[in-house]
Amino acid sequence: MLTMLEEALAQLDQVAALIKLEEGVHKRLRRAQRALIVSVPTRMDDGRVEVFEGYRVQHDNSFGPTKGGIRYHPDVNLDEVTALAMLMTWKCALMGLPYGGAKGGVRCTPTAMSQGELERMTRRFTSEIVLIIGPDLDIPAPDVYTNEQTMAWMMDTYSMQRGITVPGVVTGKPVLLGGSLGRRESTGRGVAFVTADAARELRIGLAGATVAVQGKGNVGGVAARLLHEAGCRVVGLSDSKGGIYNSKGLDISRVLRHLQEGGRFADLPDGDTITNAELLALPVDILIPAALEGAIHEGNADRIRAKLIVEGANGPTAAAADRILEGKGTRVVPDILANAGGVTVSYFEWVQDLQFYFWREEEINQRLKELMAAAFRRVWDYAAEQKVSMRLAAMSLAVKRVAEAHRVRGLYP
Ligand code: NAD
Repeated sequence: MLTMLEEALAQLDQVAALIKLEEGVHKRLRRAQRALIVSVPTRMDDGRVEVFEGYRVQHDNSFGPTKGGIRYHPDVNLDEVTALAMLMTWKCALMGLPYGGAKGGVRCTPTAMSQGELERMTRRFTSEIVLIIGPDLDIPAPDVYTNEQTMAWMMDTYSMQRGITVPGVVTGKPVLLGGSLGRRESTGRGVAFVTADAARELRIGLAGATVAVQGKGNVGGVAARLLHEAGCRVVGLSDSKGGIYNSKGLDISRVLRHLQEGGRFADLPDGDTITNAELLALPVDILIPAALEGAIHEGNADRIRAKLIVEGANGPTAAAADRILEGKGTRVVPDILANAGGVTVSYFEWVQDLQFYFWREEEINQRLKELMAAAFRRVWDYAAEQKVSMRLAAMSLAVKRVAEAHRVRGLYP
């Protein structure tokens, strides 16, 4: 199996051949612009000092500051963070945002840590990367197992070191501290928008369409709820331990409330418990992988029965699986388009922070809808025109844009 970075590079190489990317730019874009590895010594509640390893990788800053989430997970490593930073470059370019891509993370087991331990680790990690972040330099945001509270600690730590309050250093903050209305739901909302767009093109009626969602977190949970509200029948939902299935559809708000209150899928009377492998193979119209990368691989792709896959997660489909799905005629809306709602509203948040002037939620959701619809249209039309997958189309449009910026700016010195 390829690593996530090998997958990302193979994808870039394929696109480079397709768009005849200039060799020097291609070589440059295969690498990160900057990568920082840091030690994060943290006092644990029992008095011990644990030393975690953290990363911040900036892939390309041709359009402006770099942007990307911070992940806390036991599998975080430089390879993964670099691949995710690269994906962020393509995502921002595809959406036409004035950003390059970055990503960060700390290898830890956040679910086994107390709030105090998480706060001390976050503050030390922020101090260690303080040299390369800032509102005009590199702007972190939440990702897997980080949230608004994590961003509040990062903002406070950065601000304390600067001696002034700098809300624009991170996005995905609490609204009280300069966060944007609508940011919490923006990735899932964007997933729901492009799902509706793709369903319309594929003539899958959204009302009554069956949907399975892997991951009930910030992305999956919100997408499931909004699609349920839009009239879809969300029949399956899961988390890292497994999920639930009911062919008649789940009452998503009720299920999410139960989980938020600490309940388990197994305690719900709403349906049958299923494994994640079973969830991916459900007989549904639409499948939304919204957990971690690599969920759909060579070993399970042929069991997928959905007509449409909308990638809520980053990198959920391995290249080998992509080929199997294409062979079966399954449409895949790629991550850099499908989950771009998060970085788009992060951009809105940053703009609001820089101006200290805040917008109404309807305005934010409307602007998000417009940008997502326009990006969907560009990708859909380019894929049809070039007779390629939506992934290749989205990547081609993004890489072309970045390459053009490199060409026009020229090579320094
Ligand atoms: P989250 O921490 O809120 O939720 C992650 C979900 O995945 C949880 O329900 C967890 O139980 C589940 N999960 C973890 N390991 C799993 C496994 N092995 N099998 C099945 N499920 C598993 O994270 P999130 O913010 O919802 O992020 C999910 C994905 O979306 C990630 O790939 C992330 O990079 C991507 N993403 C997030 C955002 C954002 O704004 N949060 C934006 C773009 C992309």
